[in-house]
Amino acid sequence: MHDYDAATQALGQAVLDYTLQRLRMEPVPLDGPRTLAELEQACGATITANGLGGLAALELFSTQLAPACISTDHPRYLSFIPCAPTEASTLFDLVVGASALYGGSWLEGAGAVYAENAALRWLADLAAFPEGAGGVFVPGGTVGNLSALVAARHAARTQRVGPAPSRWKVLGSNQAHSSIASACEVMDVDFVTVPFDERGRLTGANVLRTIEAVGVDGVFAVVGTAGTTNFGIIDDLASLAGACQRLGVWFHVDAAYGGAGLAAPTIRERFDGIERADSFIVDPHKWLFAPFDCCALLYRDPQTARAAHTQRAAYLDVLTQAPDWNPADYAIGLTRRARGLPLWFSLATHGTRAYSEAVERTLEVARYAAVQIRQRCDLELLREPDTSVVVFRRVGWTPQHYQLWSERLLRQGFAFVVPTTHDGETVTRFAIVNPRTSEADIDDILDTML
Ligand SMILES: *Cc1c(COP(=O)(O)O)cnc(C)c1O
Repeated sequence: MHDYDAATQALGQAVLDYTLQRLRMEPVPLDGPRTLAELEQACGATITANGLGGLAALELFSTQLAPACISTDHPRYLSFIPCAPTEASTLFDLVVGASALYGGSWLEGAGAVYAENAALRWLADLAAFPEGAGGVFVPGGTVGNLSALVAARHAARTQRVGPAPSRWKVLGSNQAHSSIASACEVMDVDFVTVPFDERGRLTGANVLRTIEAVGVDGVFAVVGTAGTTNFGIIDDLASLAGACQRLGVWFHVDAAYGGAGLAAPTIRERFDGIERADSFIVDPHKWLFAPFDCCALLYRDPQTARAAHTQRAAYLDVLTQAPDWNPADYAIGLTRRARGLPLWFSLATHGTRAYSEAVERTLEVARYAAVQIRQRCDLELLREPDTSVVVFRRVGWTPQHYQLWSERLLRQGFAFVVPTTHDGETVTRFAIVNPRTSEADIDDILDTML
């Protein structure tokens, strides 16, 4: 299995051919799920004592398994948050896989860590974080938020004089992503929700009002969201930063989806205040054109994070006692893929200006969608978009109408747009993060709602 022989050579060629063909398709097929029974019938037992052989397994993947997965990079995939990696980032993912890189420590992965840190520095600069800022690429926003909150609680515990509070608490809006409540559950701390303002934003004033009601004891972090997943709403980060400063608590910004907007001059000012955060996350696998799985976690002062996260063991002393930058010191997890490298390679290839332009392009299409929705008499825009998420209703439709419409579009291999809810009402939403999504795609989808 470990010899590079003629069969390996043939398999390598086939894998590369498949990859390049997938990248060349324009557009890729949307595809869609099949039932377990259908897959069992089509594939049978795939793992056998003697093996199928690489070419047969690849054939099985390309003819049966891949078509049973929706292509998240299809230009009319507008559900949840799509993923639209650049060609360069996807290709480099292959290189990362082929290079047996260990991304956890400087000793083992200095070159990879150096490059990942350059990509992190670009994000830190976009947020106007100070020179000493730093962090690590983790699998996703969920792990990023959890790691930041663990660092925040560690800092609060260390600074605290006197006995522990009865409960540790995190404050955030009820529009915060489900991963915040999940992180609180994992940490066994309370998540206290703060009412949002008339524009759906969390504000410093509302945080202070909630603190008056529940008390500040045990509160160790306030979470602001820069781009809520359902609506793309950016909280009032500047007033949140002010409130956190007054209270002396950690300010974390969850910009998993919206953070790419930092690179877009037309909306950059909506993020003002992020420069005062103690930590923030951005998922390049969402709106920064990197393949799964990639979340950038940045700390203003990495030393506090390091104190919280460094794992100590005799066999690790050679790493932890060195003064080097070890990515594993800044998040949950020890062994890590150098998952920031596809983003780094693409940034190094294309330069940062191309990124700003690509994010602006998606914003342009989102604004176009908002205008079209406003102009069509059967459609109503729920809210002027802050970012590239557009939420709207089809007047007169019941939840079942939305469901059947959505299923039909997917079945036809035409588009993937699922319903969502707002204040208990079923509506639908476009999340536009793919620069290949065009005005014509928007028109064509809206035409199916007549
Ligand atoms: C997607 C998202 C997350 C979770 O990120 P994963 O990468 O899916 O774990 C957290 N917060 C926000 C605002 C998100 O949009």
